[in-house]
Amino acid sequence: MAFDFDLLVLGAGSGGVAASRRAAVHGARVAIVEGSRVGGTCVIRGCVPKKLLMYAAQLGEGFAQARGYGFDVGDSHFQMPRWAASKATEIDRLEGIYRKMLAGSKVELIEGWARITGPNTVQVGERTFTAQHLLVATGSSTVRDSIPGIEACATSDDLLDLQHLPSELAIIGGGFIAVEFASMLARLGPKVSLYYRDRLPLRGFDEMLRTAAASALQAAGVELHPGSAPLRVQQADGGFLLVLSGDRVRDFPWVLNATGRRPNTEGLGLETLGITPNDQGAIFVDDEHETSAPNVYAIGDVTNRINLTPVAIAQGRAVADRLFGKGSRQMNWAQVASAVFMLPPIATVGPTEAQALAAGHRLKVFETDFRPMKQAFIEGHERTHMKLLVDADTDLVLAVHMLGADAPEIVQSLAVALTAGASKADFDNTVAMHPTAAEEFVLLREVSRLAPTTT
Ligand code: NDP
Repeated sequence: MAFDFDLLVLGAGSGGVAASRRAAVHGARVAIVEGSRVGGTCVIRGCVPKKLLMYAAQLGEGFAQARGYGFDVGDSHFQMPRWAASKATEIDRLEGIYRKMLAGSKVELIEGWARITGPNTVQVGERTFTAQHLLVATGSSTVRDSIPGIEACATSDDLLDLQHLPSELAIIGGGFIAVEFASMLARLGPKVSLYYRDRLPLRGFDEMLRTAAASALQAAGVELHPGSAPLRVQQADGGFLLVLSGDRVRDFPWVLNATGRRPNTEGLGLETLGITPNDQGAIFVDDEHETSAPNVYAIGDVTNRINLTPVAIAQGRAVADRLFGKGSRQMNWAQVASAVFMLPPIATVGPTEAQALAAGHRLKVFETDFRPMKQAFIEGHERTHMKLLVDADTDLVLAVHMLGADAPEIVQSLAVALTAGASKADFDNTVAMHPTAAEEFVLLREVSRLAPTTT
């Protein structure tokens, strides 16, 4: 049977675009279907606008710091409409680049919502297309049924499209999105209350980072409510009531639902291929990203594994290389670095201390915690926290965890060292670059702790 395309990709987010372009480079005839804007969550309503808002929050802090550095600084106020207009222009520019890249790679962009109607067949509106291989890269969206009534609350998509910030708001959740927005918004004007159900935010991160994150949020003026997820949310007087345990009620004019994201699998027609998403809505794939249906692949958030843009991109390229390039390529997911863009930011690569211990490692733990030079000069309170986990038997550095200025930039580079199998002796043999914060990672000589502790 002659197909219209060799590969048809569902979803023009970062993963889908990367896969389609790589397949086209290999000579495949490729189409990509998108019902919303080209660029997906990361570019249009996620990583990119979020980081632009983080820069605004950081600059706001900079005005206060500038005084300490000798500047006369007048009153400064964040004007959300100006940020929103510039953000819209920038996102349009980036979407334009994505569209041009697809066209330049000879990938056909089909605009509309895709529905799989059978093996090799996809319907978009009134049109039907056939392809030898299908790649599902439809991403994820905010969970709206985590708490009764939460469906009426705003999501991070809504927040990033606001023209004016509310004066006060509650954020429900303690993960990436909750922490990043709490940290930024508290610096941009609103009074922020953060409700999360564990004792610390950022479940899954190293304990040191979670504790430091809570302190940093508190220092920024965020009202923390650990162990405190609302039982339900009610709309009232143009705002919301959070109904908490013990008959407590708090009202807020605005509430952000940051209780996680769910794969976008509904309405895709996966059942026509015999693919049944799991109870989180995720598509199961094997190590080669192939689903249970022949010639159907899935990458990125829709598979709900490591939900990060660079991972989706790497997965997409791996699928394209396997299908149209030089054969199979296995990815190494053990050393994926990630960052939480709060202020100061978190960055991490490798297991948490608890995970390393559970995996049977005996550990040398190196930790430091200091007030960086920039802060000390202005009598600021912000601190930098660093931790290295070293296997006590092999001397291999297993993990780097950091909260502090420039943490993502520093840890991204150290991730290369970990991928290359660096030992603590390699760190010790690296000459420091002075004066930097990063040099502390090669100057950690004293073991802070042995774990498990030998008593
Ligand atoms: P996360 O999974 O990070 O966090 C979800 C939060 O919601 C957790 O604190 C969770 O609590 C809480 N939660 C879930 N259900 C309930 C409930 N019923 N009641 C109360 N609290 C609840 O999701 P996010 O939406 O923050 O982010 C989604 C994903 O997007 C991230 O996991 C990450 O992969 C990606 N992302 C990455 C970013 C980056 O790289 N910087 C930035 C933003 C997102 P608990 O921990 O107790 O389960």
